[in-house]
Amino acid sequence: MAERQRPVVIENAYVVPVAGAEIPSGHVVVEDGLITAVGPGPAPAVPEGAERVDGSGCLATPGLVNTHHHLYQWASQGVTPDGTLFEWLVASYRLWARMDAEVVAGAATAGLAWLALSGCTTSTDHHYVFPKGRGDLFEAEIEAARRVGLRFHPCRGSMDRGASQGGLPPDEVVEDIDEILQATDDAIRKYHDPSFGSMLRVAVAPCSPFSVSGELMTRSAELARSHGIRLHTHVAETADEDEHCREQFGVLPVEYLDRLGWLGPDVWLAHCVHLTDKDVRRFGETGTGTAHCPSSNGRLGAGIARVSDLLAAGAPVGLGVDGAASSEMTPLAGEIRMAVLTQRARYGPRALTARQALEMATLGGARCLGRETEIGSLEPGKLADVALWRLGGFHAAIDDPVVAFAFGTTPPLARLLVGGRTVVDDGELRTVPGEEAARAGADAHRRLTTMDHV
Ligand SMILES: [Zn+2]
Repeated sequence: MAERQRPVVIENAYVVPVAGAEIPSGHVVVEDGLITAVGPGPAPAVPEGAERVDGSGCLATPGLVNTHHHLYQWASQGVTPDGTLFEWLVASYRLWARMDAEVVAGAATAGLAWLALSGCTTSTDHHYVFPKGRGDLFEAEIEAARRVGLRFHPCRGSMDRGASQGGLPPDEVVEDIDEILQATDDAIRKYHDPSFGSMLRVAVAPCSPFSVSGELMTRSAELARSHGIRLHTHVAETADEDEHCREQFGVLPVEYLDRLGWLGPDVWLAHCVHLTDKDVRRFGETGTGTAHCPSSNGRLGAGIARVSDLLAAGAPVGLGVDGAASSEMTPLAGEIRMAVLTQRARYGPRALTARQALEMATLGGARCLGRETEIGSLEPGKLADVALWRLGGFHAAIDDPVVAFAFGTTPPLARLLVGGRTVVDDGELRTVPGEEAARAGADAHRRLTTMDHV
């Protein structure tokens, strides 16, 4: 659990618990890192020494959950702005091969600070490039998350199928399979905290079918399941991937994963854009989660995921910003708007509502990470991860606060609490100064792009 925090009482806010009815003027009480009361009107009791926050003109939601990211990519934004996924990847791998712990520390600090400023209280990160002799990259991002103060789910990623074995990445950025599994096992033992209220949980995450061997997929699943932790990878992102899987494995990507034992309630998968009807059914039957990343999918021209079909099938769906190099600083709250607009553009006006999209960004994400009993809704007994959005000013002309929030641009944060601790106050970071975080990201970019040794 988090250290003891001063209690916080939010009153007069429009409260959207996500689980349960909306409260037009209500309170949220936070004590010892937990939500202790949610309801209409003023708080029934104010804990001793509590800080009282006037939420007039504000919308209170659960903190947002980011289900897919590559924080290190803050340092390589803007590469191949007009290429396909595979063209963009091939150009990016050359830069990523130079990455070191200092680049990751700076990029992660900027990326996590940016997430906090857009209402994120829990973030995953999928790190899968580990060039030799460049320091402890995994530790660097974990330290950044501690400083920024977000709940963090780093995924120990990996690639073992370089170009010489039919994979997409150059051989210099892939690792040996035994080294990968040892390093992943070490990371789990060192960092994973399964307890209620955990600030850090590790997942196992080989990168994608076109950069990883079938053996690594299978052994990764065995390793994760032996520790009782979750599995994550990319799948069905682009049409190029379909072609690659047909050629190399004789099946489409999701069927390939299914054969490897990679669908299940302990798995969540990034993108899932190109799904067959059978794939959608299998996601529902198996409880496999999807990290939907609409901005990144648009930026790379990947397509539009079948989110409304996945929700109808009962599969968990969360939102993700994806790496900053394929979405250029997308704010997490902005993905709610993108999700609504892209679903409707593709599947019609009833495809997704503002409230469904907010649920994906909160409880849906929590389900993907297996934490729906702890986070994702405002309910007594859950962790005090709360976002308070200021809907005065330009947003005030829209009567329905959820519509103003989901359809308008991202409003400023009055407050962001993670486990009851104030991370953002009145639009400003209170953990790491915003200017320092931005500078760390810019320095990481310069260091990565001007390094002359590989
Ligand atoms: Zn990704």
